[in-house]
Amino acid sequence: METAITGDCKNGVYCVDSGYEGGGVASVYLLRDGNEAAIVDTCHNGALEPVKRAFSELGVKDGEVKYIFITHVHLDHMGGAGLFAREFPEAALVVHERGGKHLADPSKLAASAAGVYGESVMKRLYGDILPIPADRITMPRDGAEFRVGDRTIVCFDTPGHARHHIAYKDTSSGAVFTGDAYGMSYAELVRPDGRCAILTTSPVRFDPNAMRASMRLLDGLANGEVYPTHFGRLPLGGGVSDSLYRQLDMYVEAAERAEGDIASIRMRLREIFIEEASRQNCPSLASDFGRVTRAALELNAQGLALWYKKSRDESKSLNA
Ligand SMILES: [Zn+2]
Repeated sequence: METAITGDCKNGVYCVDSGYEGGGVASVYLLRDGNEAAIVDTCHNGALEPVKRAFSELGVKDGEVKYIFITHVHLDHMGGAGLFAREFPEAALVVHERGGKHLADPSKLAASAAGVYGESVMKRLYGDILPIPADRITMPRDGAEFRVGDRTIVCFDTPGHARHHIAYKDTSSGAVFTGDAYGMSYAELVRPDGRCAILTTSPVRFDPNAMRASMRLLDGLANGEVYPTHFGRLPLGGGVSDSLYRQLDMYVEAAERAEGDIASIRMRLREIFIEEASRQNCPSLASDFGRVTRAALELNAQGLALWYKKSRDESKSLNA
C-alpha cells in the first residue's frame, strides 16, 4: 500500500494529506519523539484513516498519542477532533480558550457551517461532528509549553484570521505550525521554484491589524518557512511573504473602496488573484480558477464584507 506520509516535511515532522476536498488542500501534521506522538490539526473525519496509516508506518500506537493541537476552531481544522479523541484515548486536546466550548459542544459550529455551506455539502465535507469530554480539553495561555518526548511545543496567541487562533512552534525541528494565520498554499498553487500563497480572511472575525501583527510575530519565530494547514511546508522566500503582506493591504483597500459590498469585493479579489498570479509566476492562481481557489476567493470576500460592516458598526457606536 502507498505511504500515507507526503514528502513535504522534514526534521521529524510528518505531513499527511487529510484527503479533504479531493486532496492537496489540508494537511494533518504529526510529531513523534521516542514513544510519544502528537497531531497538529485533524481536519475532517476522513483524515483519521490516512493518519492511522501514517502512525502504523511510523510504529506509533494509538495510546502513544499524547496531544492533539488545534490551531483554531474552524471545521477544516478540527471537524474530525471528536472522532480522533475517541481513537486516541490518551490524547489531550489543546485549543484556544475561546474555542474550548466548541470542542465540548460542537452544535453551534455545525449549525453555522451548515448556514455557510448548506446542510448537504456540510454533511458531505464533515459528516457528524462529535463532542469531546470537557476533561480532555486543555486551554493554554500564550507562551505555554508542552512536551512530546524530548520535543518542546510552544503556543502563540495569533489572532487575525480568527480570535481563537494558536500557532505552535516545535523548538526541536524549528517548525512553526501557522494554521490559517500566515496564508495558505494549496498543492495546485505551483510555480517553477516552489508554490505561491494566498491570504485567508474567511468569516466571521477576520481582523486585518491583528493578522498583520500575528504575521510579524510568526516572521520572528519561523526560520524562513512555515507549516500552514493548507498545505504542507511553505518556504517564505521568493517573494511569498512580501506577497502576503501586500495582499493584506490590497484586501483592506478593496473592502473599504467597495464599502463592504460583496459583489464589488469579489470582483476586486479576482483582479488581485490575477495580479499576484503574474507577480509570483504562479499561473494556477488565476488561469483556471480551480475549485478550491474559487472557494477561497468567495470565503475571503464574505469575511472582508463582514469585517467592513462590523468595523463601521463599532465606529458608529463609539461616536454615538
Ligand atoms: Zn480557518
